[in-house]
Amino acid sequence: MAAQTHLPPPDPGPAALRDLAVRAALQQGLLEREPVVCLLDVAGIRASAAALTAAFAAAAAPGTPVLHTFAVKAAPLVPVLRLLADAGIGCEVASPGELALARAAGVPAERTVLDSPAKTRAELREALALGIAVNADNPQELARLDALTAAAPGAAPRSPLGLRINPQTGAGTIDALSTATATAKFGFPLRDPGAREALVRAFLDRPWLTRLHTHSGSQGVPLKLIAEGVREVHALAEEINAAAGRRQIDTLDIGGGLPVNFASDEHTPSYADYAQALRAAVPALFDGSYGLVTEFGRSLLAKHGLILARVEYTKETGGRPIAVTHAGVQLATRTVYAPASWPLRILAYDAGGVPRTGDRVAQDVAGPACFAGDLLATARELPRLHPGDVIAVPDTGAYFFTAHYGYNSLPRPAVHGFTAAARGGIRFALARAAQPLADLVAEAGGALRDALLPDAAP
Ligand SMILES: *Cc1c(COP(=O)(O)O)cnc(C)c1O
Repeated sequence: MAAQTHLPPPDPGPAALRDLAVRAALQQGLLEREPVVCLLDVAGIRASAAALTAAFAAAAAPGTPVLHTFAVKAAPLVPVLRLLADAGIGCEVASPGELALARAAGVPAERTVLDSPAKTRAELREALALGIAVNADNPQELARLDALTAAAPGAAPRSPLGLRINPQTGAGTIDALSTATATAKFGFPLRDPGAREALVRAFLDRPWLTRLHTHSGSQGVPLKLIAEGVREVHALAEEINAAAGRRQIDTLDIGGGLPVNFASDEHTPSYADYAQALRAAVPALFDGSYGLVTEFGRSLLAKHGLILARVEYTKETGGRPIAVTHAGVQLATRTVYAPASWPLRILAYDAGGVPRTGDRVAQDVAGPACFAGDLLATARELPRLHPGDVIAVPDTGAYFFTAHYGYNSLPRPAVHGFTAAARGGIRFALARAAQPLADLVAEAGGALRDALLPDAAP
């Protein structure tokens, strides 16, 4: 490769790189045809994937099989899945759509895990035919697996099969993202009366069940609580294997859930911190007796995504300066509906992409949608924004612009990957085109215009 004959560009640090990317995006006209675009830092994603791999490689006994998968829901973009696959990360999928994306990205079945709580018979059949790992969520789903495996007697299923456990260890600070409460909707409960005995029996009755899975929650769940859930599942695996008199459970899937720091550019906690917390809570986890699967989403992508949006107008109402921008509920749905749980930083740039300095004024940063709550920030101290300025919203690479919300028929914006090139340049690569209005109309039944009229032609 020709690029290898040059020295790599010096690492400018996240803030300086971001400023370079904003400036380059404006100079290269990315914000000319559309009023909002999204950027992904390609090298940053690779660095997070490498940090994850290194943290587990350092913690686990040599030879321990470790499969890292990416929770596709965090950033369901084929080029992102492809980039991660190239960095050694598989896919955790939870719907037929996510499985289709993983397959389109070329992620092989043996590096794919299916976890949804509402898998249909057809989905289960397809996963087993492909050899994709499946974690069953409940006794009724397990009965479907019984039927599917009985249909091919003698042959052990190609798919590694396991059960998702809810360790019932408790909630974090965000209820909607806490999956290990006493009454959470996911998995087999562990602490309900008789639950443990029934789980051991379920494994003894099914020699083809070889895995336990848990995912204690996402943003807002402290590391200690996640590690406690993993400890519970490890103890259950030991109990099952002792009862079976063999190492029936050979793999523990410990889910994802590493929280992300939305307050600064620091990557805290790190994957190394997480491995440390696991080691402290479950010293035997890394001793090589079990293969490990992880399913991180937010922590791999969040810090590497940036929304850029034009300020269309500025106004003042009731003494409050308001900047009306093109980034709102369609891209930052959680922030708009639950601002206390999902605060985002906002950075101010002028029309040329130069960071705005100067006195900070408390401003509302509003989106384009037609309801009063469509605000990315309320009374936020920022250099005064002007029409034509650009706001940047960092840390939005997971679950924000990649989880578009179609309110007001606002189109999905383009996503560009960016990479530092020689001499401080920035190279962009389109990873998702902006949704054309014609596609938006088509998805809204455009071809079925007369369908609801009387006497519509069949
Ligand atoms: C959402 C989810 C993940 C990823 O969670 P993050 O907080 O994004 O790391 C992993 N596993 C399961 C089962 C999930 O539902």
